[in-house]
Amino acid sequence: MIRIDDVTKRYGDSTVLDRVSFEAPDGAITGFVGPNGAGKTTTLRIAAGMTQPSEGQVQIGAMTFAQAERPAHHLGLFLSAEGIPGAMTARGFLEYICDTQGLRRTRAQRLLHEVGLAEVANKKVKSFSLGMRQRLGIGAATVGEPSHLILDEPANGLDPDGIRWFRDFVLSAAQAGVCVILSSHHMRELGAIADQVVMIDSGRIAAQGSIAEFIAAEPQAPVYVETTDDSAAERAVQDQGLEVQAQQNGMMVMGSSPDGLAAVLVGAGVGLTHLTRQRSSLEDTYFSVLQTRDTRH
Ligand code: ADP
Repeated sequence: MIRIDDVTKRYGDSTVLDRVSFEAPDGAITGFVGPNGAGKTTTLRIAAGMTQPSEGQVQIGAMTFAQAERPAHHLGLFLSAEGIPGAMTARGFLEYICDTQGLRRTRAQRLLHEVGLAEVANKKVKSFSLGMRQRLGIGAATVGEPSHLILDEPANGLDPDGIRWFRDFVLSAAQAGVCVILSSHHMRELGAIADQVVMIDSGRIAAQGSIAEFIAAEPQAPVYVETTDDSAAERAVQDQGLEVQAQQNGMMVMGSSPDGLAAVLVGAGVGLTHLTRQRSSLEDTYFSVLQTRDTRH
């Protein structure tokens, strides 16, 4: 578990974090989202003990990162791939991290496979794409098989293959019990893998909850339907005074429950091939939370 407790951070007169609190449980992925400059990196750096908070505290499992006897086993941190020295090879870099953490160099070899860089292990990092550097940085973060993992924008620069690899990687970490905090701008991807989401805006927590709460269908959300006879379906629906919007393969019906709509269509002798209540996406919720805050500011 990672607990951020009432953390405030000031730089001179400017308050960049204002009483930020949230908890990321073990065995789960906590998505951390917010616009640029909202305070994500500052929060994550404070969590990792790299920046001191002005007020508040952070706990990682039973202790802070600084107190851990085996830090690489306690917390893995990926903030950016920028700092990886270009003159090192991927293998050299991971072996160096193993050395500094008192780990066997055989771990570096296994990691190269885990992050999909075994074939370029002896190439210099300066020849790597951003995506390859990201993989290497993520590998370095997990060198000590940490029980907690903080990843800041890890999917930047990953190609579709890399994104799929990352998804499997992070899901299996969470399944193995690791507490993962993942900051990302990729809402669709995050919506597919996160268990809970924390939204930060202007240094304050704007919303937090389970992913199910964030993408729950609103009771009045439209119902999308595909039928065997769209013109008959449209007439039947309009006869009930419901608003309908044609779509490419079906139609969107406003103001009805899925059950009610199915009853109307079946009653009119129209066959149904598809019927779903539209759910909001994580992206929809993200923008509506930020908009609500904007109008309040
Ligand atoms: P995010 O990661 O969400 O983009 P950051 O945590 O990087 O946001 O930044 C939050 C705010 O804190 C920004 O306004 C940024 O300019 C400010 N900030 C970050 N680090 C410093 C610093 N060392 N000195 C002054 N201001 C900083």
